[in-house]
Amino acid sequence: GQCTPCREGTGWMMRVMERLVKGEADPEEIDMLWDVTKQVEGHTICALGDAAAWPIQGLIKNFRPEIEDRIRSKRGVIAAE
Ligand code: SF4
Repeated sequence: GQCTPCREGTGWMMRVMERLVKGEADPEEIDMLWDVTKQVEGHTICALGDAAAWPIQGLIKNFRPEIEDRIRSKRGVIAAE
């Protein structure tokens, strides 16, 4: 808990990720999650901050449509083809 970005950011990221997995987050939270990973990345004493931020950045970078689909399907909205 020595660095604020990691101490506060990792818990916040974990809670959003837990809801994203279930499709229960808001679509706007994807960008918020990205921003938080950027606030953590490179701003901590040890490597744990980067280690927490990078997998989430990779997920958003490579699988954003899948994340959005999951949120839409949870809400019962069929994605427009
Ligand atoms: S980055 Fe490392 S030192 Fe800083 S709070 Fe996280 S675990 Fe502790």
